[in-house]
Amino acid sequence: MPLIKKIQCKSILNKSGIPVFTYTINPYVGCSHKCQYCYAVFMKKFTRHTAPWGTFVDVKINAPEVLSRQLERSKPGRISFSTVCDPYQHAEAKYKITRQCLEKLIDTNHSVSILTKSSLVLRDIDILKKLSSVKVGFTITTFHPRVKRFFEPKAPSAQKRLDALKILSHHGIPTWVFVAPVLPYFTDSEETLNRIFTNGQAGGARYIQFDALNPYPKVWNNVSYLTKRYFPEAIDALKFFYYNRPAYLKRLSDKIFKISQRYTISYKIVYSCTPSTL
Ligand code: SF4
Repeated sequence: MPLIKKIQCKSILNKSGIPVFTYTINPYVGCSHKCQYCYAVFMKKFTRHTAPWGTFVDVKINAPEVLSRQLERSKPGRISFSTVCDPYQHAEAKYKITRQCLEKLIDTNHSVSILTKSSLVLRDIDILKKLSSVKVGFTITTFHPRVKRFFEPKAPSAQKRLDALKILSHHGIPTWVFVAPVLPYFTDSEETLNRIFTNGQAGGARYIQFDALNPYPKVWNNVSYLTKRYFPEAIDALKFFYYNRPAYLKRLSDKIFKISQRYTISYKIVYSCTPSTL
């Protein structure tokens, strides 16, 4: 289990650097789901954590009170829960910071967007139904138990997430599927993409969104290390991705388009086929 520490925050409703959102709310520092491709690992630098990502979680214990104060003087906007942690990671079962923050947003004109890998979000259906505008996204990367064990060791299984998505949809909560990152070899097979489309559509998701792996140095080091060590059969695919990214991404987009023709659910691609960073 991660080392849990309670901390006081000065601000919880923060301006978003992501254009589609006005604000972000991150109720926790760190994330116990411990995904090895997590780009939020850069947060360690800003929060002076030296322990490995996934082994520490700071609980912003006063976040609901701080949010109340900030809401009094904030203009309505789109709020993301969350950008650098999972708002329904394990600590949320006990501390309920996300739940309490959502409660504060009832009777406001803010629009709430939740992104999670956890079925714990089902606990809060009562509150989600009271928000003026909300949608819940579930991130999916792999259905393979062994791949999950190495790449997202502490997160619930993809099937559990999709089951939760279906329940929320049945309750009238808008849902969507976020395939991110598409892991070369592991997520981009026709079989996996088909399964995502099938489950997304059957579960009542509004759409499926795809984002590619962005090989930031820390992320790339983790992903290539795990692949070399435990999945040697995937090395060639990973090399092709790294050295031929425009060709890989074009091929991926073509494959997604072809598969999408079998379904009525819509999809979006949010990566650029001409990446600028390597
Ligand atoms: S759930 Fe999201 S924030 Fe948490 S470790 Fe995984 S990728 Fe990072």
